[in-house]
Amino acid sequence: AMFGSAAFVAAFASCVAGMRAPQPIPKGTPLERYPAKSLCSRCGLCDSSYIGKVKEACAFLGEGWGRTSQLEAATHGRQRNLDDETELYFGVTQALQLAKVRAERRPRDAGWTGIVTSIAAAALERGVVDAVIGVGRAGTGPYERMEPAPVLCRTPAEVLGRCPGVKPVLAPSLELLDQVARDNSIRRLLFLGVGCQVQAARALDLNLEELYVLGTNCADNVRSPDALKKFLRAVSQSPETAIGFEFMQDYTVHVKHVDGKRYERVPVFSLPSEQLKDVIAVSCYSCFDYVNSLADLVVGYMAAPDEGVQMTQHSQYYVVRNDRGRRLLELIADDLEVNELSRANDGASRIGFAKQVTEQDLETLFLGAKPKIWALPDWVARLAAKLLSLTGPSGLEFAKNSIDYHQLRNAIHLRVTTPQSAGIIPEHARRIEALHYPGFTDTLVKRYL
Ligand code: SF4
Ligand code: SF4
Repeated sequence: AMFGSAAFVAAFASCVAGMRAPQPIPKGTPLERYPAKSLCSRCGLCDSSYIGKVKEACAFLGEGWGRTSQLEAATHGRQRNLDDETELYFGVTQALQLAKVRAERRPRDAGWTGIVTSIAAAALERGVVDAVIGVGRAGTGPYERMEPAPVLCRTPAEVLGRCPGVKPVLAPSLELLDQVARDNSIRRLLFLGVGCQVQAARALDLNLEELYVLGTNCADNVRSPDALKKFLRAVSQSPETAIGFEFMQDYTVHVKHVDGKRYERVPVFSLPSEQLKDVIAVSCYSCFDYVNSLADLVVGYMAAPDEGVQMTQHSQYYVVRNDRGRRLLELIADDLEVNELSRANDGASRIGFAKQVTEQDLETLFLGAKPKIWALPDWVARLAAKLLSLTGPSGLEFAKNSIDYHQLRNAIHLRVTTPQSAGIIPEHARRIEALHYPGFTDTLVKRYL
């Protein structure tokens, strides 16, 4: 009997050893071969051994973004109040304010005034977390400064030295979860990420004492380093020295450069949109979480009214979603200048604008039509930008306009190109359409199907 049970144990052990854990997808595999196929945003989950959870976690599979309400309840203790206009758009909100890091406390090379970088460094400095997953730069040469290379930081110096600045290209940050799982000294983790990554991370059991998530806004991310080059060459007169860009509320793209002096403002209506067609990742045409609903604290720019200054002096806005988010923000409370953000509602002025831009973009995407209001001569484009910044939506209304446009465009794009995936559209996006744009996506889907 002894021999029998020993043999049984040996057989069982060899059987368990033979049951290989799900294997990460090999590096270099084209996105179309990932589980979400062309919709994949390469969040990194499938580049890790958590790939076994992809069906329950991926923002583009099954219910996808539709899991947001359920995950909001699990993460923040409640779902967003869909009857409250601010929460309908910006998600569960404890506080929503403008902020910037005081001039003397700004970290070097930050994309804006350094709120995210400062919080991540302080969380390590004060021992609130053992490690931070952030996004470093791929290199120090031209273009590489904006290419992402996810990094697991253990010290404030690593955060401050490697992570500052926005890297506007898809980044597989979740692949670092394997390193976290292997390292027993990491019990509390801070994850810095965008909506699709956070959505996937929230659906996993990471076996940590505490997971903090500091999110950023994200829309229309660039699909690859080559596409980033193409974009910068089309937009900037000095693409090789660019270290950051952003679409700002003055209707220009701000491009900043490595010497800290050169600074371009390119009117959005002068952008050569035909050349920019293949720049945005396909996943980002199927994204419904610009505001990063499942982060504890979100720092973004899109609701911050134009202050007429450069990005590195410009306020951003933040949304505290729960007590973990509040603890993160409090780490740098002494370094922050905080201001009220007006919640004045001016819905009427943005609805027509969002519809017009959506229709025009879809004509270009589906029919290859020449855009009517883009690619204008520089002086006309500058005048149009000036007029719009005086008369168009600003502040929170600008952000809502941008959310409306992206959600409408993406709902139509998804229903036309991948109708079998339409179930990923979350309740808040459907509610916004029903409230402000009834029947709009149905009409356009019929037009392009
Ligand atoms: Fe996997 Fe992430 Fe791609 Fe979904 S988006 S298929 S979870 S890598
Ligand atoms: Fe992910 Fe959405 Fe950002 Fe694309 S736009 S990278 S899908 S969060």
